[in-house]
Amino acid sequence: MNAFWTQPDFDDHEVVHFVHDDKSGLTAIIALHSTHLGPAAGGTRFWHYAEPGAAMRDALRLSRGMSYKNAMAGLPMGGGKAVILAGEDRRKTPEMLAAFGKAVDGLGGKYVTAEDVGITVADMVAVHQQTEFVSGLPVEEGEAGGNPGPFTALGIYLGIKAAVKHKLGRDTVEGVHVAMQGVGSVGGGVARLLAKDGAKLTLADIAADEVQALGQELGADVVAPDAIMSVACDVFSPNALGATLDEAGIARLDCSIVAGGANNQLARPENGAMLAERGILYAPDYVINAGGIISVTMEYLCRRDDAPCDINEVRKRIALIPERLSKIWQDSEATGSSPDRVADAMAQKLIGRG
Ligand code: NAD
Repeated sequence: MNAFWTQPDFDDHEVVHFVHDDKSGLTAIIALHSTHLGPAAGGTRFWHYAEPGAAMRDALRLSRGMSYKNAMAGLPMGGGKAVILAGEDRRKTPEMLAAFGKAVDGLGGKYVTAEDVGITVADMVAVHQQTEFVSGLPVEEGEAGGNPGPFTALGIYLGIKAAVKHKLGRDTVEGVHVAMQGVGSVGGGVARLLAKDGAKLTLADIAADEVQALGQELGADVVAPDAIMSVACDVFSPNALGATLDEAGIARLDCSIVAGGANNQLARPENGAMLAERGILYAPDYVINAGGIISVTMEYLCRRDDAPCDINEVRKRIALIPERLSKIWQDSEATGSSPDRVADAMAQKLIGRG
C-alpha cells in the first residue's frame, strides 16, 4: 500500500494520531485535518472495520468533512475526527473510553470530540471524566447541546424543504415522496418531521423491528434495505453510512433530489458530477447535516463562556442551512460545476486552502 500521506484522502491533514492502549485494548485514530479556524471539532466513531486501512480512510475522509462542515456552518472550529477500532465482538468498556479520554486530553485542546455512530451520550460523559475537550454532554432543557441527532435532523428537514422548493418549485413537502435509507437517530428524526408535514415516506433500515415500528407509527411504507435506492420517489435521503452514492448506486436512483444526513455520501469525488448529469439535485452532505455540530459547538463554547447557551441561538443558526444550500445550487447552475464541487471550493477558501 502507498504511504497514507500520498493518498488523496490524506488531503494535507495537519496531523494524524495513532492511539493504542494495551491495558484497555483501545486502538484509535485521531485525525486533525485543519485547525485554521479553531480547535479541530468532530465526533468519535466506534466501528468494527474489516481492516485497519478502512478505519484510516474513514477517519481521514470524516475529518476533512468536519473541516468543511464547520467552516460552512460559520463555526470558529477546525475539523477533526476520531475512530475507535472495535473488535469483532464490538465490546466497548469503561477502560477503553477512559484511555480514549486521556488521549484526547493529551492533545491539549487541539481536538474537541463528540458523539458519532456507535457512541452514546453516556459514553461522552465517561470520556469527559478524563478531559474537558468534549461536547455533546447532557444539558438542561432549553440549552444548546446534548444529543446532536435531533438538531442534525432539523437541519436536514429544512434542507429537504429547500431542495423541494428549488428543484420541484413546491412550497411544502405535503405529498412529496421521500425514500429514507436508515432511520436511526438522524433518519428517524427527519422522518417524523416530514410525516408531520404530510410527506409520503418509504423507509428502509437493517434494524428490521425498529423500522417496522416506525413505519406503523408514521403510516409509512417499509422496504428491504437493498430495495430503497431504486424506489421511485421525489427525494432519496441517505441517513445510514456513507459511500452509498457510487456508480452502481447512482444508476439505480429514480428520484429528483438526494438530500440526507449520512457523512461522505459520495463514494468518489466524480460521483457528484454523475448525479448532476442525471439531473438529480444534490445537497452536499456536510452542509445539510451541520445541525448537530452547530448545537454541540455552541454547548462547548458556552461552557467556556465564549458563546450564548440558548437553544434558540442554535435554531437560528440551523435555519441558515437552506440559504447556504440555495447559494450552492445557484452557483452550480451558473458555473456548470456540480454542487459538491461548488461547496468544496467554498469550504477550502474558508479554511485558507482555496
Ligand atoms: P444511527 O446509528 O442512530 O442510525 C443509523 C441507522 O442506519 C441505524 O438505524 C442502522 O440500522 C441503519 N443502517 C445501517 N446500515 C444500513 C443499510 N445498509 N441500509 C439501511 N439502514 C442501515 O446513526 P445516526 O446518528 O442517525 O447517523 C446516521 C448518519 O448520519 C451517519 O452517517 C452519521 O455519520 C451521520 N451524521 C450524524 C449526525 C448526528 O448528529 N448523529 C450528524 C451528522 C452526520
